[in-house]
Amino acid sequence: MKTKIIIAGPRGKMGSEAVWMVHNEASFELAACIDRINDGKTLKDIESLPALNVPIFEDPEQCFQEIDADVFIDLTVPEVGFEHTKLALLYDIRPVVGTSGFSKEQIDALEDLSITHGTGCIIAPNFAVGAVLMMAFAKKAAKYLPDVEIVEQHHDQKLDAPSGTAVKTANMIAETRKSKQQGHPDEKETLEGARGASTDGIHIHSVRLPGLIAHQEVLFGGPGQTLTIRHDSYNRASFMEGVKLSVTKVMELNELVYGLENILE
Ligand code: NAP
Repeated sequence: MKTKIIIAGPRGKMGSEAVWMVHNEASFELAACIDRINDGKTLKDIESLPALNVPIFEDPEQCFQEIDADVFIDLTVPEVGFEHTKLALLYDIRPVVGTSGFSKEQIDALEDLSITHGTGCIIAPNFAVGAVLMMAFAKKAAKYLPDVEIVEQHHDQKLDAPSGTAVKTANMIAETRKSKQQGHPDEKETLEGARGASTDGIHIHSVRLPGLIAHQEVLFGGPGQTLTIRHDSYNRASFMEGVKLSVTKVMELNELVYGLENILE
């Protein structure tokens, strides 16, 4: 039996990629979309999306009431994404959330709701499997090479710096290595910010340029050697393997899981 899916944000960069992924996956079926415009239309009315008779709803509650679905994918903005996810859980439709920027309180509230309803939910700020592996490898390497700096590079439309992935990498490294101050103890910046941001002594440098998507290098140094672990997302298709995996996995869950790394075997 096919997994029936509702997608919110079908015109967005990630949402449209997810629409095509679901359309091309034999075991998935696109049941409906939630969009703040195009209410009452169908997907075939939207240029560059598959010509399908899939209904579009502006009101998420009406969508969850009227459409028989197993999974809800949210790729919008945190303010509406949180409300969508809450509603999906209330209607026992399992959410897979890629929208980034939920607060800790919001995640806790969704976790409570997920447990109360016994409905699985996955929230993953980074769906790129390679990025998750990069973080895991960096955590392991830091045990042996504790001097490390992170360089993350993103497109110039990104609003936050450093990236959530860079901060998460630093936090994971901090679980492995002892806290230490890196570089020369008397080092001074002659230009403010030259050494980047610092968390637990780990320096993070953020590059923003048009043409980039999402890239990160974790550089380790030891006597006479360096190690570089690098991940590049060249387009948004890089996130779709993680979305696909999450849709399959969420069907087996009855509580909320945060982070793709927690569903990879
Ligand atoms: P995007 O191209 O700007 O798409 C956002 C979508 O949300 C658009 O369809 C937009 O519709 C819709 N939207 C915005 N405000 C809305 C509102 N108030 N009510 C209803 N819909 C609204 O952004 P994107 O690059 O696809 O990213 C979408 C989300 O995924 C972001 O939170 C981003 O940080 C996250 N992201 C996650 C990953 C991951 O791996 N988990 C990777 C990349 C991005 P309009 O066109 O009408 O504004």
